[in-house]
Amino acid sequence: MPHTAELIAVGTELLLGNICNTDAQMISQALSALGINVYYHTVVGDNPERVRAAVEVARHRADIIITTGGLGPTCDDLTKQALADAFGKPLVFDERSAGRIQEYFRLKLPHRVMTDNNLQQAMLPEGCTVLDNDWGTAPGCAFEAEGVRVIMLPGPPRECRAMLEHRVVPYLKFLSDGVIESRTLKLYGIGEAAMEAQLREEMLSMHNPTLAPYAKEGECELRITAKAPTEAEAQAMLEPVEQELRGRFGDLVYGVDVGSLEEQVSRLLRAQGLTLSTAESCTGGLAAKRMTDLAGASQVFKGGVVCYTNEVKHSALGVPQETLDTFGAVSPQTAQALALGACRVLGSDLAVSITGVAGPDPDDRGNPVGLVYIGLAHGDRVWVKETHLGTARDRVRNSAVLAAFDMVRRRLTGLPVLPEAAPGKDAP
Ligand code: ATP
Repeated sequence: MPHTAELIAVGTELLLGNICNTDAQMISQALSALGINVYYHTVVGDNPERVRAAVEVARHRADIIITTGGLGPTCDDLTKQALADAFGKPLVFDERSAGRIQEYFRLKLPHRVMTDNNLQQAMLPEGCTVLDNDWGTAPGCAFEAEGVRVIMLPGPPRECRAMLEHRVVPYLKFLSDGVIESRTLKLYGIGEAAMEAQLREEMLSMHNPTLAPYAKEGECELRITAKAPTEAEAQAMLEPVEQELRGRFGDLVYGVDVGSLEEQVSRLLRAQGLTLSTAESCTGGLAAKRMTDLAGASQVFKGGVVCYTNEVKHSALGVPQETLDTFGAVSPQTAQALALGACRVLGSDLAVSITGVAGPDPDDRGNPVGLVYIGLAHGDRVWVKETHLGTARDRVRNSAVLAAFDMVRRRLTGLPVLPEAAPGKDAP
């Protein structure tokens, strides 16, 4: 029987919209990787009755309850008290945790006076497993009662993340009778809605392995998770599903269990002993930034020119003035000249160019927001792709950079640089 977990985030600041519930996102991702279902997230303010009410609902629909926040000294142990009450467990003073809190202050916060209420954090449900917190003062805890496992974690994301990785995941892995393995397919060039529409039936009917889609800006991921007695058996269950999905999505899949699209591009360039450069107008150097975020980028990335004005397009990259005057900066002709110019000026084997309208307003020639031309030059060959990337400035810029990387990826893997539009494929 797969386990089902429910997350309860305690904190009025979450309800007020002052902060986002990033702890829940992080925990849900970890649970999904463990093959544990999550059907509900609840957010509740710092109010004991409402926390208690949330627990009463959760205990009937999940066998694992994970809370975040409300463990610190200022909250009067709100969460622990509410959970302990709900499961009829008294809070008792844990000497060892008290010692660790004192030690934490002595070593990590030597300039702060430890007030007595800090020791409140050592009050824990009787008989619980203490989840030591090496990253802050409030210990977490876990206990089992009435068929439900309760896990309480501190709210600060840095502490929550570390506790999740080092305390909770090992604890939950231990719970599961078998091995959980997953593979993540990364796709570019299909929207989440189109992907889900194609996979809805399978996703609903599959129980082991399971299939979960994730949308990232401009990209999608599909995670297949299998549970089996051994790793080899789990991998054997994953393999046919991976093959089926690869067959279905074809060259939209840019990798399995790989990093970002630019990491793939970098890996391909390195393997083929080639170099890349960039000529960026509306993305202002974002493609170059993402390439140079990667360690060892200098082996494959020659450099980039941010050619925001026509003057720089002409003087730095040699785009003919006539091209700019006749067709404008946002045009396939300019994208082509920029890509060829970058290859020549920066001395790279390949170059991408990005020129378009990031918004919020159309350009002076009336080109609409989101229209971006992306060029790719390889030697004396050049391709230009016309894209329409929405109206939100950030999104237009991020999507344009991904589209440029994907053109390089396609070129280096022997695919047509400009794929035919196919039914079910979204505009990226
Ligand atoms: P502390 O010991 O710092 O008091 P705590 O466990 O009592 O920790 P809270 O006081 O509820 O946690 O929250 C501490 C801080 O952690 C909040 O101000 C907020 O910035 C952050 N935080 C709390 N809950 C979440 C959450 N679910 N997602 C993201 N951040 C959170």
